[in-house]
Amino acid sequence: DRDRAPDYLSGLNPEQRLAVETLDGPVLVLAGAGTGKTRVLTTRIAHIMATGRAYPSQILAVTFTNKAAREMKERIGVLVGGAVEGMPWLGTFHSIGVKLLRRHAELAGIRSDFTILDTDDVTRLIKQILQAESIDDKRWPAKQFAQLIDGWKNKGLTPADIPEGDARAFGNGKGRELYAAYQARLRTLNACDFGDLLLHPIAIFRKHPDLLREYHGRFRYILVDEYQDTNTAQYMWLRLLAQRPSPAKGEPRTADNTVNICCVGDDDQSIYGWRGAEVDNILRFDKDFPGATVIKLERNYRSTAHILATAGHLIAHNEGRLGKTLFTDRHDPEDQKVQVHAAWDSEEEARAVGEEIEQLQRDKHLLNNMAILVRASFQMREFEDRFVTLGLNYRVIGGPRFYERMEIRDAMAYFRLVCQDADDLAFERIVNTPKRGLGDTTIRLLHDYARARDIPMLAAAADIIETDEVKAKARKSLFDVVTMVRRWQGLLENTPHTELAEIILEESGYTDMWKVDKTAEAPGRLENLKELVRSMEAFESMRGFLEHVSLVMDAEQNENLDAVNIMTLHSAKGLEFETVFLPGWEEGLFPHQRSLDEGGRSGLEEERRLAYVGLTRAKRRCHLWFVSNRRIHGLWQSTIPSRFIEELPVDHVEVAEMEQSYGGYGRGGYGQSRFDKQEPFQNTYATPGWKRAQANKTDATRDNWGNRSGVAIDRIGYGESGPKARTIEGE
Ligand code: ATP
Ligand code: MG
Repeated sequence: DRDRAPDYLSGLNPEQRLAVETLDGPVLVLAGAGTGKTRVLTTRIAHIMATGRAYPSQILAVTFTNKAAREMKERIGVLVGGAVEGMPWLGTFHSIGVKLLRRHAELAGIRSDFTILDTDDVTRLIKQILQAESIDDKRWPAKQFAQLIDGWKNKGLTPADIPEGDARAFGNGKGRELYAAYQARLRTLNACDFGDLLLHPIAIFRKHPDLLREYHGRFRYILVDEYQDTNTAQYMWLRLLAQRPSPAKGEPRTADNTVNICCVGDDDQSIYGWRGAEVDNILRFDKDFPGATVIKLERNYRSTAHILATAGHLIAHNEGRLGKTLFTDRHDPEDQKVQVHAAWDSEEEARAVGEEIEQLQRDKHLLNNMAILVRASFQMREFEDRFVTLGLNYRVIGGPRFYERMEIRDAMAYFRLVCQDADDLAFERIVNTPKRGLGDTTIRLLHDYARARDIPMLAAAADIIETDEVKAKARKSLFDVVTMVRRWQGLLENTPHTELAEIILEESGYTDMWKVDKTAEAPGRLENLKELVRSMEAFESMRGFLEHVSLVMDAEQNENLDAVNIMTLHSAKGLEFETVFLPGWEEGLFPHQRSLDEGGRSGLEEERRLAYVGLTRAKRRCHLWFVSNRRIHGLWQSTIPSRFIEELPVDHVEVAEMEQSYGGYGRGGYGQSRFDKQEPFQNTYATPGWKRAQANKTDATRDNWGNRSGVAIDRIGYGESGPKARTIEGE
């Protein structure tokens, strides 16, 4: 009865409402961008609670980022009219995985206070293993092996599952043994990598069906956002939890034996294939969960008709897709077409974007509602520099993270060791930082001693100082380290943790090390250390803080400030902004050179989906940019506009007029030919107008713009735009 429906349902369209109200049995919502998939999930959770179907603690909800999880919690609170008390199982795959593992760590052969290693730690650990096995790490780089293992883990493969052929791919055919040795080392260190946060729970559930049954009883409703980007391990994990036993013959389906899983996603937004995501998971949903209700949403509530048409036209160039209809009721003649701008180089691009933003600001638009979405994170710096000059506030989301800075990592290593003294990687990081005259030989000796006895290195150090295996000076240094760490451990329980942090940084000599350092960065590093201690205040304990850091690397600078958002396209998934700027639409950058090198169409199609994600983040205004010269590491590269620009629909796109100094090409050059005469951009690249513009540049610039194509760019090293280090979330 519609009239008596609760408020939170009344705003939904019929399909959305069906998705919210179909509470029994599997449900898949497969729909394009901005059609309200996330809103359906949020409302569904509110509905489950409001109708008393389950307690908040009985709902397992997976989001792609921690930020999305927080937002979802807030939204639910608004819908049910009051703060949501405890939804402990709302989070990313990794944050839920870590929670499960803390509870049952002993079943995986580790203790519940295990450390979560980041990419750097993992690489260092692998280096040690390769060294121990005398494998030449020039031929078989540790980093490469780290990636290989990560790939295996994304596929849900343990060492025993690695096929023979694959195993031979690394380390003289020893890939599988090395992987096993790595897992054994992790166990000794009482540590996990990111992949383990899912793989351990999977193994535990498989080995302990009774425990799995307990969770079947607990998780009455399972909900997953961005399902198109789940990888095989995540999928296995979900299936284990979702496939509750079917009712015995003749028995009715009840709340206890129904599979109540609801996944939402969009095959056109699958952008993590390079990291093992399997879009097939979404395509075979109704095979895995028989009797699934599949719901399509076709009305887009986010974007203007121009933006929607532009994105739709672009993505239609992909072959491997299901194809969907998207429409909007919104037809406002005031709506702006998608704006395409050309700039001479990235500096001009940043300057022009800055001007556009200032104009919007003068028209009373909030900076919070604007975003710059880049393909590769190196593109950010130019904007950051420009915004600092202009005094425009900005925040980098998911960007170079505070916690990844060297001094922060050093300090954290001290804290880690104090909280968990089996953390050898932390021990190794700080034992000679600041310098204490401990050479490689001593470290190696400690290392071997520890391994031979299967004890942590800190304990080995404590042992060794009783012997005369090391020289007097080293012995004194080790004695100091052991004594200090033990003393701090003794303070752990009864000293306020921020105070303890200060004590550690002082007594270790770490702060002093930067105080006497004369390099330009030292003052900044000291500032950062202060900021680190400050940031700990928000936590109850040092352990809680460490957990937070390993989980949440979602940079949230200036949360409360009105600021422009800067992030990669990959981390923009699921978000929306009034105005979106998409710089760097050039061949070799976007589509990224690597996807072109692959040759096949799958890499290129993933790039196109990324472009689709970018365009569909915009609600009202969308600006694309391309430059004709890009400077990387001080070298100029000539570039040509992205093929994606050619694939945009003429009717919904407008070439913006350039008022800048190099106006010659802005209008007369490419503008007319592509959108007025319907010729591809590449042709106009060689028009006299374009050339003239180039000739006007200074000598310094001209020296370097040889006639290279965009192809040259990648050799100088574009980074992947996805998160550099693996963070616990979509990264
Ligand atoms: P994406 O694929 O980008 O993740 P989505 O399908 O998850 O998009 P949402 O973010 O849930 O889409 O919704 C897009 C926007 O449309 C949001 O601002 C949301 O509040 C709004 N919206 C969704 N459904 C409705 C509705 N029935 N009435 C009004 N606004 C709606
Ligand atoms: Mg969404």
